[in-house]
Amino acid sequence: MNSQEMYPHRPQIEVAQEKCGNAAECMKCVTACPYHIIGILQEEPPESGSDGPKKFNVIVAFKVLCILCGRCEEACDKGAISVSYKEVEVN
Ligand code: SF4
Ligand code: SF4
Repeated sequence: MNSQEMYPHRPQIEVAQEKCGNAAECMKCVTACPYHIIGILQEEPPESGSDGPKKFNVIVAFKVLCILCGRCEEACDKGAISVSYKEVEVN
């Protein structure tokens, strides 16, 4: 077993939603990710009869696919994304 198998890196992608604001108005991190790991999701469902959802948050799915390239972090003008990793020991 090599060191990568013993201590696999688990990507951590933190999003500060309060810095981001409304993700639907930006989407830079979404388009920057080569693996389409980042998306947006409406904060609350739209009320019946309204024009539609107003506020979207950034969501991160399938973190295991992240290659820690940092493109999402670099793309964000507001410093709302932080990419790091932690090592996880496998027994
Ligand atoms: S670090 Fe790279 S692969 Fe990981 S979520 Fe950001 S853009 Fe995608
Ligand atoms: S790049 Fe930054 S401001 Fe733009 S949607 Fe992503 S987290 Fe929000």
